[in-house]
Amino acid sequence: MKKVRLKFCASAAVFICLLLIIIPDHSFAQQAITKYQVYNADCFYQGKHWFIIRKFEKGGTPNYLAVDPNTLEASIIDPPSTTVKESTWKQIQNKYPDVPYFRAIKRAAQQSFAIQDAGIIHGYPQEKGITLTIDLCPSHKPLDRVIFNSLINEFKKTERPVPVALSISGRFMLTHADDINWLKGLVDAGELSITWVNHTYNHHYSPGVPLQENFLLKPGTDINFEILGTELAMLQHGLTPSVFFRFPGQVSDNRVVDKVLTYGLIPVGSDAWLAKGQNANQGSIVLIHGNGNEPIGVNDLILLLQTNKALVFKREWLLYDLRESVEDEFKN
Ligand SMILES: [Zn+2]
Repeated sequence: MKKVRLKFCASAAVFICLLLIIIPDHSFAQQAITKYQVYNADCFYQGKHWFIIRKFEKGGTPNYLAVDPNTLEASIIDPPSTTVKESTWKQIQNKYPDVPYFRAIKRAAQQSFAIQDAGIIHGYPQEKGITLTIDLCPSHKPLDRVIFNSLINEFKKTERPVPVALSISGRFMLTHADDINWLKGLVDAGELSITWVNHTYNHHYSPGVPLQENFLLKPGTDINFEILGTELAMLQHGLTPSVFFRFPGQVSDNRVVDKVLTYGLIPVGSDAWLAKGQNANQGSIVLIHGNGNEPIGVNDLILLLQTNKALVFKREWLLYDLRESVEDEFKN
């Protein structure tokens, strides 16, 4: 009897071990990333020049979040063999003042005084089409998947993958694991190319409170957590944070814009918030919400796609990648 029980225990242990290996456990991923922090360095990696903006440890190994200063593409650099020499943000900026990345940051700093729509709000003026940004603010409703299905369907013959920028909040990630996995599946299938934009963790909003004390301007807001906490949550969900940032409610002031810039992030506004009746023109950075709370914006986007159907077909109306739009605008 004892033998049988022992055998059963051994089999159960093997079964549990197998389960742990087969089922990806979120808490394991959470444990794996530690010491996430701001860190500045420039380095060469795989034949390219990178600016490092964060460092962290994954499974005890140093990892870096870095940006290509010319293409504005972000990437995770993980081999411990790469020589990385710590520097200061100022030193790197003084060394490479004319790269598109720093030119974009400089422009954003100059445009920091508006209470709404600070940052880059328009793409390259000669674009034939738009740059689409979709905000995923906290919501109990599911992701509006119809947006993505419509985009993939409309552009299947002309643009594959379809480029979109998704501004994601930490609290959206907490309750939408299935939707995030669905989006990741579309990226893996080559249907979508997503630039993940930081939309803060809590995305605080109090109806009726003046803008000067609302959203990220709420007194007592921990900006460091709002930024780094969101990036960490992205990494834990297998998403690579980009160097772009969208203010909740598009609301900011000079002080908070300057603060965001010190993290190496470029604020992106919008000149065409469709649900507010703002029209999309050539080169517009269009905003809709994809969190189930803005059906008017979603319908307007679908209408916009239908209106431009013939031009899309002739490749005369395109969707632009946010990174390329900003790079084109700021390259020499
Ligand atoms: Zn939002």
